[in-house]
Amino acid sequence: MYTNLNRIKRDIETLSGFNDSPGEGLTRFSLTDADRGAREYLRKELIKIGLKVYEDSAGTLFGRMEGTDPDAPVILIGSHFDSVRNGGNFDGPAGTIMGLEIMRVLKEKNIRTKYPIEFVGMIEEEGGRFGAGVFGSRAMTGKVTYEDLKRNKDENGISMAEAFETFGFDPHKIDESARKSKDLKAFIELHIEQGPVLENGNIDLGLVDFIVGISEFRVIVRGRPDHAGTTPMHLRKDPLVAASELISEIGDYAVEAGEGTVATVGVLDVKPGAANIVPGEVRLTVDIRSKSADCMKSVRDSIERKLDELAKARGVTFEIDDLLSVNPVTMSPEILSVLKKKADEEGFPYKVMTSGAGHDAMIMASITPTGLIFVPSKDGRSHCPEEWTDYEDLQKGIELICHTIIEIGEAQ
Ligand SMILES: [Zn+2]
Repeated sequence: MYTNLNRIKRDIETLSGFNDSPGEGLTRFSLTDADRGAREYLRKELIKIGLKVYEDSAGTLFGRMEGTDPDAPVILIGSHFDSVRNGGNFDGPAGTIMGLEIMRVLKEKNIRTKYPIEFVGMIEEEGGRFGAGVFGSRAMTGKVTYEDLKRNKDENGISMAEAFETFGFDPHKIDESARKSKDLKAFIELHIEQGPVLENGNIDLGLVDFIVGISEFRVIVRGRPDHAGTTPMHLRKDPLVAASELISEIGDYAVEAGEGTVATVGVLDVKPGAANIVPGEVRLTVDIRSKSADCMKSVRDSIERKLDELAKARGVTFEIDDLLSVNPVTMSPEILSVLKKKADEEGFPYKVMTSGAGHDAMIMASITPTGLIFVPSKDGRSHCPEEWTDYEDLQKGIELICHTIIEIGEAQ
């Protein structure tokens, strides 16, 4: 192995000390003292390697190793180092110290790449403090404005703009954090899986091909509220009976669509909601996720067809309100193929899998070819104090990206 298990363990353990809820998991919100502590540790380690360390106007920390071609676009490696409230030590930091450890390896092995490489440590990915998630990557892709910073406030009413100023960043310069596609060669992230698939399959690494898209909408079914005792069955327009027919079929639509598509009804509201009244209105939410936009559309079409059918059969009317629509994101097939090749060479068991959760990689893919790998989460747990990844597994993930960088970066 090129990478060093003890250093990896030390990085994770040291970062976990910058914590605002000791004894109750890790809480490291953005632009706080805990952020400062973690940032200064990372900065110190990057300086030790001899990198050019800087921050962008969105508070993202970078450490740059020049390539042999001064004009070549840069390869970014890293993740975020903020956390949710009472979370764990690995969600974010695992990918952040991946970047750090790889930089150490390149330095000590004297590996020079044609393309420059930059360590990336982002904040507010979780949206834990200001409610505006995947913040660092959105800023890097030019999607954050000064107005956004004024608008997003923490629970004490402090805006992100104020917090940036107090911390020592100029919020008016937020635009300057945007990177241009032509200046980027790739972004590669490592993240904990946050699910049980790798551990259950006894597989070391997950190589992500797609990040799922999400389609969320509300269906309102209207019928006629009537007396539960005096209205004969054949004269009712019961929206709850109609809605239950729909709900019982939604899972089948997802399975029929294929490609691992999933669909969930998570909210059901019945009005007026009394035991002795035939319901008059039912509201339910549908959440469809898939790596294929066509599959998501096919589930939606099936739902609309069913609603048309129910409207005729049961005398109800319906309405659909869109709540959220996110397209599936493709990870770079070129980077994925190098990851596969290197995993084979290193003898690391892996599985190509789709990510059911969004990450900074999802945002970065809009401006540069992007790769994402997962390391196993014990019992599939995350965002809790029990969150755990074995250091040996984390090391394999870092080792894999290290060899991938050496190839993609065209080491001389
Ligand atoms: Zn994360």
